[in-house]
Amino acid sequence: MLNIIIFGPPGAGKGTQSDKLIEKYKLVHLSTGDIFRANIKGATELGMLAKSYMDKGQLVPDEVTIKMLEAEVNKHSNPVGFIFDGFPRTKSQAIALDNFLKQKATSISVVLGLEVEEEELKKRLLLRGKDSGRADDQNPDVIQRRIEVYKNETFPVKEHYAAQQKYSGINGIGTIEQIFNALCIAIDAVK
Ligand code: AMP
Repeated sequence: MLNIIIFGPPGAGKGTQSDKLIEKYKLVHLSTGDIFRANIKGATELGMLAKSYMDKGQLVPDEVTIKMLEAEVNKHSNPVGFIFDGFPRTKSQAIALDNFLKQKATSISVVLGLEVEEEELKKRLLLRGKDSGRADDQNPDVIQRRIEVYKNETFPVKEHYAAQQKYSGINGIGTIEQIFNALCIAIDAVK
């Protein structure tokens, strides 16, 4: 299996690039943010819980997120592989994912980290907020909080996979095509 984590701060371009990668590599796209938003739309219990954290720019608790992610993975029998987008976002999530995949006799193939500096992220998120209507992209305080959460809680995930020689940093500044090409080169190197 080809299991990719697309990693990076909010606004780095993970969703945009995932859409292109799933088409080329025929992978299943699992975005925890998208799944939470679908649950909010459907007014499920999970959605209501997730919303209370997302509106504040905080992470949904690990236990809830890990359980949901594992259930999503289990919905697919015999996939070519997965793109994990927005997950893992904490070291505990990374350890849980590694153990879960191990039970399934597979593992993460590569972690692609989109690297974009903070000022550019803030600009992109505010711009996206205008088009997408995402509440968490429209409030500068919430954006700042999400960037801080990334630095404090999510950045250690990079170290976790760097220690396994699986982290590949990709310049997240450039055209969508340029970034996509750089991602494909990194994927083809591990395929
Ligand atoms: P995203 O669409 O990836 O930007 O995620 C939007 C929001 O959903 C985040 O700010 C978190 O509140 C929540 N979220 C998404 N993925 C996770 C995760 N892996 N762990 C905890 N919270 C998450």
